[in-house]
Amino acid sequence: MKKVIVIANWKMNPGNLDKANALFDLVKKGIPSNQKAEVVICPPYIYLNNLKKRTNSFLKFGAQDCFWEKKGAYTGGISALMLKNLGCKYVIIGHSDRRRYFNETNEAINKKLKAVLNEKMVPVLCIGETKEQRSKGQTKSVLRQQIKSALNGINISGLKNLEFCIVYEPIWAIGSKNPCDVKEIQKIALFIRRLVAENYNAKIAEKISILYGGSVVAKNVFDYINMTGLQGVVVGGASLDAKEFVKIVEAVS
Ligand code: PEP
Repeated sequence: MKKVIVIANWKMNPGNLDKANALFDLVKKGIPSNQKAEVVICPPYIYLNNLKKRTNSFLKFGAQDCFWEKKGAYTGGISALMLKNLGCKYVIIGHSDRRRYFNETNEAINKKLKAVLNEKMVPVLCIGETKEQRSKGQTKSVLRQQIKSALNGINISGLKNLEFCIVYEPIWAIGSKNPCDVKEIQKIALFIRRLVAENYNAKIAEKISILYGGSVVAKNVFDYINMTGLQGVVVGGASLDAKEFVKIVEAVS
């Protein structure tokens, strides 16, 4: 059986390296080395190198984004290759913060996805609808479009040891203390798997890990994993509280 994946998305936090070290050390101390989940810390880029030196083998690293080129005149860009060289295994792609504040398009997300797969890293593709789209009954069509364009021209059928995460992150649930209902996630997870099967085949759809993100805390995470058939969660706000994050990992282990 696959390990449950718990991804901490620190976003643009904490404000300095000392605080990042302190948070990381508390998480490291709190999570027993024999726990069963795959725990992935995604700090801001500038803390990665330092945190990597403080880590142990069971905590994995991820980045919150990357650029699609390997190197060159792309001011401010960080490539998937650079992240791989730093020891990152995972890269979050298409987070709604990126789509919203950095005008990231489905086309850009597709290129980034290709770059991550090229480096044999694990993409964590985020999809999800806004509150308005949901109230208009457009959730499924939005997810269909996001998946279709993200996967456009990507041949994952030929990949050995396929590791690929798709995270359902309804935008209205992120940072809202209003998480999505377990029954609804169950239906959406099935729908996402069906969409992947439509783009590839049922075997690939089975292999893909489907995660949920949006106001996950220690109190609700058990139900998300046990009642929905999800393979993991992405934790934003609660990952900045070491005690809460450790409890989340304990709950899914
Ligand atoms: C996120 O932004 O990826 C996220 C899941 O945030 P939160 O847990 O704070 O809702």
